[in-house]
Amino acid sequence: MHISFTGLRALVTGAGKGIGRETAKALREAGAQVVAVSRTQEDMVSLSKECPGMETVCVDLGDWEATEKALGGIGPVDLLVNNAAVLVLQPFLEVTKEAFDTSFDVNLRSVFQVSQIVARGLIERGAPGSIVNVSSKVALCTLPNFATYSSTKGAMETLTRVMAQELGVHKIRVNTVNPTVVLTNMGKKVCPDPRDAAAMKKRIPLKKFAEVEDVVHSILFLLSDKAAMTTGSGILVDGGYLAS
Ligand code: NAP
Repeated sequence: MHISFTGLRALVTGAGKGIGRETAKALREAGAQVVAVSRTQEDMVSLSKECPGMETVCVDLGDWEATEKALGGIGPVDLLVNNAAVLVLQPFLEVTKEAFDTSFDVNLRSVFQVSQIVARGLIERGAPGSIVNVSSKVALCTLPNFATYSSTKGAMETLTRVMAQELGVHKIRVNTVNPTVVLTNMGKKVCPDPRDAAAMKKRIPLKKFAEVEDVVHSILFLLSDKAAMTTGSGILVDGGYLAS
């Protein structure tokens, strides 16, 4: 199956590291003009060196005003990947206001804000678009210490369905991908102990964690016209965990 995004402009949040970085690179390889948005300047510098021509924007997406300033005039965007997120693990009884606020600001509020900017632009141009929200398996089936993170991703599932309903008439599709553990910086925080990692893998029917490229392929498929009739839905990249 050949996917081409030639002539389209894509914006990826959290593109400095991990899944977002590889998604930005894959979109560029598939012909898109890419705007990579992330928080650490060094990551943006190294990405633009690695991918000459890629546009980069350095902003803390947890800061509404700074995001408005950085992205409010970003221009036409056809494809959006809401990928930036933080993971703070705390037992429910110890969840702090700071962890709650930061997690919801970055993982959920920025999805509202960036999607509004992109969708308004698409509607003004009368152009079709596709949005992928990077959710998680733990939006649907969670674990101890994940109260805050899982809540942000659970809310993202609901938001995805509402956006799909409201934006469908404008030919804008909205879907999620729901990965299991991927051993990025964030994934390593979930399983710092190799014994825990082995126990988690045992519970996954395919007996392994996901690779970054497994997630990237699903994101690209959902962004593309090959998924033209799919909206308000998503792809589990969980090795069958939720089937068991
Ligand atoms: P990662 O390696 O930690 O990368 C996250 C990226 O998001 C980094 O570039 C980070 O920049 C950026 N980011 C975080 N907060 C930001 C902010 N306030 N403003 C701008 N950029 C910000 O994580 P990942 O594993 O690639 O995760 C990508 C997505 O997959 C997330 O939505 C995550 O929830 C989801 N996911 C991950 C896993 C997993 O096991 N890895 C599993 C399921 C779902 P800085 O480093 O500069 O902060």
